[in-house]
Amino acid sequence: MFVEPRIDSFKADRKGAGWIEVICGSMFSGKTEELIRRLNRAKIAKQKIEIFKPAVDTRYHETSVVSHDESSIRSTPVQFADDILLLAGNSDVVGIDEAQFFDLELIHVARTLANQGKRVILAGLDMDFKGEPFGPMPSLMGIAEFVTKVHAICMKCGGVASYSYRLTASDKKVLLGEHDAYEARCRNCFYQDFKDEPKS
Ligand SMILES: [Zn+2]
Repeated sequence: MFVEPRIDSFKADRKGAGWIEVICGSMFSGKTEELIRRLNRAKIAKQKIEIFKPAVDTRYHETSVVSHDESSIRSTPVQFADDILLLAGNSDVVGIDEAQFFDLELIHVARTLANQGKRVILAGLDMDFKGEPFGPMPSLMGIAEFVTKVHAICMKCGGVASYSYRLTASDKKVLLGEHDAYEARCRNCFYQDFKDEPKS
């Protein structure tokens, strides 16, 4: 389990006090639950937290990051990564969910917030349904101090899963209603069925 290094966010000059954490993995791996766990603990310690998610993710309630076990935390949907810089204010901790859906500007945003002395925690899919690195995630993992890769359980064989296998043939890059459309799979089960084009 991830244990925070010493947090020194309350000193007057916060320069150098910030850092970046990335929580990544496939669908059903518990990324959002882990993000919420870290944010809740910071909140209990009376640190100021702000949470953002891309406006595209409207599966659940508009202003909540909602994990699948229904523990939730209020969040602000934003259109562009840049908006986060304006809205982060004087928060100590900035959480960003579904980070893979943001534009590449998110890399600059995360770096700027951390350089301002904030703790930045990003959660997102590291690979898309083709098994390719997803959007800004690989770069975020590169600039982060801490990267945690969480895993699901392969829905075919019960092994350790790090791939999100798409069950439908939709062309849409973003498919909502993930429970019906995807399976978590291990490498072997993913590539057994993956033929560049998703199966219908
Ligand atoms: Zn498997």
